[in-house]
Amino acid sequence: MAYINENYLKLPGNYLFAEVARRVAAYREAHPDADIIRLGIGDVTLPLPAASIAAMHAAVDEMAKKETFRGYGPEQGYDFLIEAIIENNYTSRGITVSPDEVFVSDGSKSDCGNIQEIFSTDSVIAITDPVYPVYLDTNVMAGRTGALGADGRFAGVAYLPSTQANNFAPALPDQPVDMIYLCCPNNPTGTTLSKDELKKWVDYARENDAVILFDAAYAAYITEPDVPRSIYEIDGARDVAIEFRSFSKTAGFTGTRCGYTVIPKTVTAKAKDGSRHPLNALWSRRHSTKFNGTAYIVQRGAAAIYTAEGQKQVAENIAYYMENARIIREGLSALGLSVFGGVNAPYIWLKTPNNLPSWEFFDKLLHEANVVGTPGAGFGPSGEGYFRLTAFGDRQATEKAIARIREKLAL
Ligand code: PLP
Repeated sequence: MAYINENYLKLPGNYLFAEVARRVAAYREAHPDADIIRLGIGDVTLPLPAASIAAMHAAVDEMAKKETFRGYGPEQGYDFLIEAIIENNYTSRGITVSPDEVFVSDGSKSDCGNIQEIFSTDSVIAITDPVYPVYLDTNVMAGRTGALGADGRFAGVAYLPSTQANNFAPALPDQPVDMIYLCCPNNPTGTTLSKDELKKWVDYARENDAVILFDAAYAAYITEPDVPRSIYEIDGARDVAIEFRSFSKTAGFTGTRCGYTVIPKTVTAKAKDGSRHPLNALWSRRHSTKFNGTAYIVQRGAAAIYTAEGQKQVAENIAYYMENARIIREGLSALGLSVFGGVNAPYIWLKTPNNLPSWEFFDKLLHEANVVGTPGAGFGPSGEGYFRLTAFGDRQATEKAIARIREKLAL
């Protein structure tokens, strides 16, 4: 008799984007001529950098010849990519990372979702609220939480509200926690933690024998100097933090798939008998057992972003999105809305006017301005009363959306 993993039954349906699609489809059916602009997408729209395309073409040609063909590669990633990552993202910022501390993967979603496997199922997790849903859902699946309560919170999880009231810098947990998920720059709020704020978390983890799971998928969007690009810029982080990075938003690899995880060999956790074990070794074991490496062609494309022309092209694409972010942020602020994010991240997080519930604001924006965004409540209970717009759209569409909001939205 096969029984299911009943933890899956604790999860609500994939309600957020399905419900967004349902409401948009219903509106379109009633208003077939409406020109609906989508600022809800969390996907890039610009093509891959030319340097990556050229490198991938060359790699395809290598695959076509017996002498240069590659089969299975190293599970952890090819040296050429790992070395380029270390040189450009760590050594250049004075951070020491060794090649066997970097694990190349098919993207950050898998890594952020799978990392929990190497921790005991009775570990307590802390998540910021609102949050990228993958951290929480994967822990629910693993049985690290109780049931979902009427308040929208899973029992046994430390929720760390992150709202305008605390300037999006959550307070330390008031209960013991073991695994702390931090995302900076943050999806969905588009806000960041300063070095001092992050230091507070590193110190907490060191004092409480906790591990920080730091998601830096949007690090490439940071413009302000005081915002850490990597958690390893903080003293002591190499003992307590794992960092996730992705080529998705950095260089348009959402469909091409490449990311990596850094686990310093100095990050350890205890077994029940009190012995300490490096998490690097556990993840290495897991990665080589369950993952067979990212495609060679893709790794060549990823490494090409670190060439001089690749860096220039990536910077141009990011600047394009960040100009969209500026247009949205300034356009909405000028209407008197409270707007956050959009300076170090491609997300703009706004307070709904008159404290409208976020789904009501979704309907209002769709009906009055024909603009689609994402209701904050979909990212956690503390997202209620907020709304996310993204800067990943087309420039003209973004400008048009803001003009429409200005002209048509009754505030
Ligand atoms: N982490 C955050 C915060 C994200 O927003 C996303 C994607 O939207 C990811 C990770 C996943 O990125 P990837 O495409 O590398 O799986």
